[in-house]
Amino acid sequence: MTAQDGVVRVGPDPHPITGDPFLSPVPPGSGWPGDPAAPDTPVAHDEATVHELARTAPTLGELDARVSVCRACPRLVDWRESVATQGRRASFAHEPYWGRPGPSFGDPAADTLIVGLAPAANGTNRTGRMFTGDASGDFLYAALHRTGYANQPTSVGAGDGLALNGIRIVAAVRCAPPENKPTAQEKATCATWLGRDLELLGDHLRVIMTLGAIGWNGVLAATTTLGWTVPKPKPKFGHLTETTLHTPTGHPVRLVGCFHVSPHNTYTGRLTPGMLDDALLSLRP
Ligand code: SF4
Repeated sequence: MTAQDGVVRVGPDPHPITGDPFLSPVPPGSGWPGDPAAPDTPVAHDEATVHELARTAPTLGELDARVSVCRACPRLVDWRESVATQGRRASFAHEPYWGRPGPSFGDPAADTLIVGLAPAANGTNRTGRMFTGDASGDFLYAALHRTGYANQPTSVGAGDGLALNGIRIVAAVRCAPPENKPTAQEKATCATWLGRDLELLGDHLRVIMTLGAIGWNGVLAATTTLGWTVPKPKPKFGHLTETTLHTPTGHPVRLVGCFHVSPHNTYTGRLTPGMLDDALLSLRP
């Protein structure tokens, strides 16, 4: 094991696509495909610093970089790094694990934002890309390809050539939580990053689709904090539930709910490929 910047790392192991060797968790700016951070990207160690670094992030790219090195939630930092160093799924035991918060993925000029729940321990926490490396992502990216938002139907890992057109994907909580259950405090802290995302997208943003209720509530919380006009009482999440939010300049942004793409929903038929396609197509102008 090696300790660098106070982070215990193991490896190196070869990246499954490029073959390049990486420590786990991946050091910022060490060449991982799609890593938005540099070795000197500022690190948030608590909630107050998240607020400061989010508020001062000048661009979406810098915001992604700062998110990707965040260490503000001790329980989640411990979990994501322990999975990356000691708790890997057996089938991925010889792969490097990202072990950091999941940065946004997709088209930086998108007018459509998808907000998920949180990374999976052996999915995004391994691959470093939103919804990548697990069954949820397989379901989502196949639908994005069928509906014309993605250039290929699969998302294997950073470096596989996948590109999105018109859509950007973020999570309400950027670190993998134990049992997929972030605490209220963790959700509140991470909502600050989401809020800055929305602020930087500004009046370019046209529609937000949330996958599940946690993303829905996270968007409502973040937009309320930003001073957007949110309907009262706050609309409840539901599949294809829709409402309209207004930015402080009066710009309307559609908010659309969609059941989460988790195996719990897709294996039981609660969310079918056709339902997800219809939801995605409804986002078009
Ligand atoms: S969940 Fe969000 S705020 Fe908490 S450590 Fe991860 S990126 Fe930072």
